[in-house]
Amino acid sequence: MSLSVRDLPSPNWDARPAGMPVDTLILHYTGMQSAQAALDRLRDPVARVSSHYVVDEDGLVFALVPEAVRAWHAGASFWRGNTVLNDRSIGIEIVNPGHEWGYRDFPVLQLAAVCDLCLHILARHPIPARNVVAHSDVAPDRKEDPGERFDWEGLARNGVGLWPFDVPDLGTGGVVRDAVQLAPVRRALAQIGYRVDPSGALDPALAAVLRAFQRHWRPEAVTGQADAGTLARLLGVARLVEG
Ligand SMILES: [Zn+2]
Repeated sequence: MSLSVRDLPSPNWDARPAGMPVDTLILHYTGMQSAQAALDRLRDPVARVSSHYVVDEDGLVFALVPEAVRAWHAGASFWRGNTVLNDRSIGIEIVNPGHEWGYRDFPVLQLAAVCDLCLHILARHPIPARNVVAHSDVAPDRKEDPGERFDWEGLARNGVGLWPFDVPDLGTGGVVRDAVQLAPVRRALAQIGYRVDPSGALDPALAAVLRAFQRHWRPEAVTGQADAGTLARLLGVARLVEG
């Protein structure tokens, strides 16, 4: 399909730090009751939030902020040791009411447009597959977007982001809770890019990171538990980012 992009400038941006590479792509949902409400807010100078792009449910793409400058979409964030992800990322807001207003499936046309837009962005910047992430990946303690209904597997099938295709579904049994057994879980999550303490039993912070991992790579069961199916996917993704 050909990508249809409409300019709809937002005043909410500033310069990226000098010499900063654009090496991360962060996907969001708008989490508002309508596309118009989201576009209004992302262009409201008082709100001080924005994104580079908004993708509507019909597949129409709005360009709000030029890729060369910094949009204000990620807030307090962490990925692979980097903080302030706005400095080095491009942000795409995908129209969906979200968990607060009636989370629903992303229409096929919208997903196709997101995929196409991502491919264009990846062709312009040195963004490795492992740095195509969800807002919830970089801020697991306070964000859920774009959430478990987003088709990360389909995106990866088309060359956008990572997916462990060869991992069977092992189900939700075999939950691991104690510190010793969770040590390799914490290691794998950190290796992928999440901020996690290196040791400890299952605590609320680790549960939040596990939920973020599940929303991205194990959407069948977002539980915050280290069950067998989650561990298999976790090790599968960790293998993909090795070396
Ligand atoms: Zn977001």
